[in-house]
Amino acid sequence: MDNTPAERREQIVAWLREDQLLRIDELVQRLGVSTMTVHRDLTALSEAGLVEKVHGGVRLPDPNLVTTETCQMCQMPVKRRLHFVLTTRDNAVIRACCPHCGLLLLHARTDVKTALLRDFIYGRIINVHQAYYVVESRIAVCCVPSVLAFASQTDAADFQQGFGGQVMQLTQAYAFLSHSHHIHS
Ligand SMILES: [Zn+2]
Ligand SMILES: [Zn+2]
Repeated sequence: MDNTPAERREQIVAWLREDQLLRIDELVQRLGVSTMTVHRDLTALSEAGLVEKVHGGVRLPDPNLVTTETCQMCQMPVKRRLHFVLTTRDNAVIRACCPHCGLLLLHARTDVKTALLRDFIYGRIINVHQAYYVVESRIAVCCVPSVLAFASQTDAADFQQGFGGQVMQLTQAYAFLSHSHHIHS
């Protein structure tokens, strides 16, 4: 495989959604790269809070853990459950408390390489471009207006049926947030 680091890292996270735990030697084999490269990828992912290294392998962290990190937008503590992580071209990691702040940060920057977040129902890690957002539902777990992310359009629509709000894709959610004039203080 001839992947960039960003592609490999997303692939590792995608595999972890299926397997829960992966051994390092298995990743070396699947990715066709050296053990050193896998270690570098795992270090980057674990610094971003996306994976947890265990002896000889790696797994997804417990989504219910509250981290010690704070949101770069509103300074609230980052909850794993709503975790939103941006990686810049310089490999700096920027975290947000929830998709509300994450999308505002993402929109404000031009140096973002990858942007990942968690599905609100299952805690799976998804790419911001593939997510569906339910905006302004009655479930306000973090910043207002509430923005929650879902891996599938069906899940987002089901959620919207129960809890109100509007289902949007990335560009619509951006537009909504930039017109809502609200930033958590
Ligand atoms: Zn925030
Ligand atoms: Zn928030």
